[in-house]
This record gives sequence, C-alpha cells and structure tokens, in this order.
Amino acid sequence: MAAITLKDIVKQYGDGFLAVKGVSLDIADGEFVILVGPSGCGKSTLLRMIVGLEDITAGDLHIGGKRVNDKAPRDRHLAMVFQNYALYPHLTVFENIAFPLRLQKGQFTDAQIKEKVEFAAKTLELQDHLDRKPANLSGGQRQRVAMGRAIVREAEAFLFDEPLSNLDAKLRGQMRTEIARMQRRLGTTTVYVTHDQTEAMTLGDRVAVLRKGELQQVASPRGLYEQPVNLFVAGFIGSPPMNFLPGEISGSTMTLPFAEVPISAELAPKLQGKEIVIVGIRPEHFEDAALVEDAKKGAGVTFSAPVDVTEWLGSELYAYIPFDTNPDVATTLEELDRDLDGEGLRTQLIVALPSETKIRDGVDA
Ligand code: ATP
Repeated sequence: MAAITLKDIVKQYGDGFLAVKGVSLDIADGEFVILVGPSGCGKSTLLRMIVGLEDITAGDLHIGGKRVNDKAPRDRHLAMVFQNYALYPHLTVFENIAFPLRLQKGQFTDAQIKEKVEFAAKTLELQDHLDRKPANLSGGQRQRVAMGRAIVREAEAFLFDEPLSNLDAKLRGQMRTEIARMQRRLGTTTVYVTHDQTEAMTLGDRVAVLRKGELQQVASPRGLYEQPVNLFVAGFIGSPPMNFLPGEISGSTMTLPFAEVPISAELAPKLQGKEIVIVGIRPEHFEDAALVEDAKKGAGVTFSAPVDVTEWLGSELYAYIPFDTNPDVATTLEELDRDLDGEGLRTQLIVALPSETKIRDGVDA
C-alpha cells in the first residue's frame, strides 16, 4: 500500500491540447479518492498518467514516496480495473484471476497461486464460479473477476476507470456497495474515476472535482455538498441540482423571483455594497410551510408556489416550480396533497437565507 502524490501535473497531448493543467493532489495511504467531473474534464487522462499508460508532460508523480514519472507501468505496482473488464474469454475465472501471477514467470508456485486466487475469490464471493468462463457470468460477476485480478497482485493501489458504467442501475448499486466493502476490508489506496455523482458521493473518503483539466475542489462528500467553493461545484454535486436564483438587494431585504426575503443581521455585513447576487438554494431548503413550526416561520418567508411537474421517488417527492428562472426551481416535499388552492397544484413553501451563507466574489460558473 502506498500514498500517491501529484504535484503540478500537466498533460499536453500531441496536438497541443492541454487536458490536465497543473493538478496537485495528495492521496494518503489507504485512502479512497474519487476523481469526478463532466465528460472531457481530464479525469481518465489523470488516472492513466498515474498508472503509467500516458506520459506526464510536466510535474511530479510520487507513489510510496518514490518519483515514478519515468517508471514503466509494471514497475509502479498498481492494479487498474477498466470499464470493459478486459477478461480473457477462453480462460476460466480461476485462470483470469491468476493471470497477473502467471505473467511473473517462476515467481509463484502453483500452490501459492492457488492460495492467492482462492483468497481473492473468497473476498469477492466468487468461490463457486472458479471453473466458469466469463461468457457464463453476469456483468457483476465479471466485474468482480476483474477486481480479483487486482487483489491477487497485492498492488500498492487500485485504480478504477468508470468500472460500473456498463452495468444496469440495480447492479451498479450492488457493485458500488461491494467495491466500498472490499476497499474497507483490504484498506488499499484507491483512486476511482467516475462522472456519476452518486458513486462519487457514496464511495470516496474524499472527492476531487475536475473541470476542464483543473481541480476545482477536494473535500469529503459532505464538505463538497455543504461548502462548495464555486458555482460549478455547487451545481455539479446534488440531485436535483442546487437552484441558482438572481437576488436583488435593497436595504434589509433581498428580492428573489418568488418573494422578498429578509436579510438577517449576520448576513447583512457580508452583502454590504452588493446589488445583484446569485443565490444558491438546495431543493431541500425549501420547506413545506404546513410542516414548519410557527416559531421557525419568522426566520424565513412563506410564499405560494405553483407546481407544474412532480416526480415521486417513493421516499421523496421532487416538485418543479416554474418561476421566471431557467431551469425551473426544484424542491423536495414529503407529500403534495395538501395546500392545493384549486388553481392547479400549489403549495406553501417557506425559505430563509442561512446566516452562514458563503459570499464569494468573481466565481466562475
Ligand atoms: P469521459 O468521462 O468522457 O471519459 P474524461 O474526463 O475522462 O472524459 P479524458 O479522456 O481524460 O476525459 O480526456 C480529456 C480531454 O483530453 C478531452 O477533451 C479529450 O478529447 C482529450 N484527449 C484525450 N485523449 C487525447 C489524445 N490522445 N489526443 C488529444 N486529445 C485527447
């Protein structure tokens, strides 16, 4: 196991395109770090540089305290699990898992190989499938075989490149849990690339958000959600996404598209001298006025909201409110069969500006 340190890592492709623009990131020994960002942000490029499949244009990469920029992939002692699993169809599960050990000719006896493969198979609950060929496995089992190969190598770190994107939603959920369990059990340093924010938020100790080759923020999932450093991170993490609304300040009130909201005494100094701001309100921060205690109501403003689309997810109800905003304002409600006033769906919502609101200047949306 090893720590991985990236210092000012740059990748410029042959055609001059700068895919990674000076990324620095310290990944601790045993840590599970997610690289997340929209398509083309450079996350796979970064992972491929770590594993050695792509040259590093500039910067330093250290694994286990040693600079490895110029080391061949096999000398970095990392195990990569790809999206397409890269299994050999003619080999059994046992032989697929044993493959990396057989490649190191003469280094392991048959008994050692058997022991290592059986340990990996047990960890991944594949013991009953060792004689099968990949064609006779489910997508999830194939994924586990690919992970088994990473385990037998006893690599310094596991690197995953969107390993679950070929699976259906249910299996994706199961495999997500399995990867988390395996990583906790083995305690191996893991770097995991995904564009799926659910995977990012549920799997990682920390999440690194990339955009256009630049690191935006590295934080715990909770840190990203509650303290995003800019509009990009705020809008990228969370589903439905955070609502961004124009706010016009005048005196001690702020006019939002649906209501005038009082500015608290704590917030007022931070807004000093500003006239127009962008206010980010997470869907769950609109509260159903019928459920809010009277004492709390005074802190916010209650308004009547027309709801044009609802999405019921069993445990939650998303409601979309067509104000003069784009996209519509999203909120989460517990139910929507109250407070309807006969003019179609309407509900009473309450919203307050939190006093710890982060005020940031010059943010790049
Ligand atoms: P995705 O989620 O779509 O896989 P990504 O964030 O993993 O995206 P990368 O594959 O790292 O993105 O690519 C980053 C950028 O570098 C993209 O704009 C891509 O077009 C560009 N790129 C990737 N490989 C090359 C290459 N060999 N030559 C030139 N540009 C490349």
